[in-house]
Amino acid sequence: MSFWLSYGGGVNSTALAVMCINGSLPEYGEVKFIFSDTGNEKPETIRYINKTFLPYLHENGRDLITVRPKETVLERWQRYEVTGSRVRRDCTDHGKIRPIMEYIKTIDDNPEQLIGIDAGESHRAKPANKKKKDFPKHYPLVSHGIDRRKCIDIIKSAGICVPVKSGCWHCPFMRVKEILELAKNNRKMFDKIVQLESVSRSRLINSGGNIQNYYYQWRDRSATYWRDRAEQEAKQMIFNLEFDDIDPNIPCDCYD
Ligand code: SF4
Repeated sequence: MSFWLSYGGGVNSTALAVMCINGSLPEYGEVKFIFSDTGNEKPETIRYINKTFLPYLHENGRDLITVRPKETVLERWQRYEVTGSRVRRDCTDHGKIRPIMEYIKTIDDNPEQLIGIDAGESHRAKPANKKKKDFPKHYPLVSHGIDRRKCIDIIKSAGICVPVKSGCWHCPFMRVKEILELAKNNRKMFDKIVQLESVSRSRLINSGGNIQNYYYQWRDRSATYWRDRAEQEAKQMIFNLEFDDIDPNIPCDCYD
């Protein structure tokens, strides 16, 4: 039996990797590290992996296997002419889970997975789904009572900096502040979602579909709404949460 850490590029899985390396989790032996790059990861995440995490692994005689889906998350939405949404969560499956499982299956007969869900979100630590032929799953941060704050301490104790929350730059689970920052700081990327919404809406209307089944990418408001609001706020040099911006942190199905 061998253990594979599904690395996500964020705080939790980085802390878990540090624990595997510093001997805090001897029960799992020499863990292998694997990362699925959706092709749309945040630029900060890719920078962190290349400049911080990989050098740290190499210094400790370890490596990171990177796999990729056949098409990026955005390319897949563009092909189907649909937006991303919080309702359809299949991008995690296509962008993250399948590429990792397909790779591991080709080289390992008896793999088990370590997943970086922390003790503060233990409700997300689900057992393997046998129907989906999941590998057995382990949640060491949960079983060792390590929450996100402790994860940050563990990363700092390894002498490396703390990554940003990982995820695609266009994730439908982004919070208001992240959407507005994307609109302000990277208009070219943002406008790809404006275009996706336009194509997706036209396809639905032209095919006689029910407009009730149309989903905006972010929080039931159009990308143009967020773009206009970001422009407005940039002019006024302010960032306001509006009264109806109920903005709970709802995690997507990807592992940080
Ligand atoms: S849920 Fe979000 S972070 Fe995960 S694959 Fe989909 S868009 Fe990317």
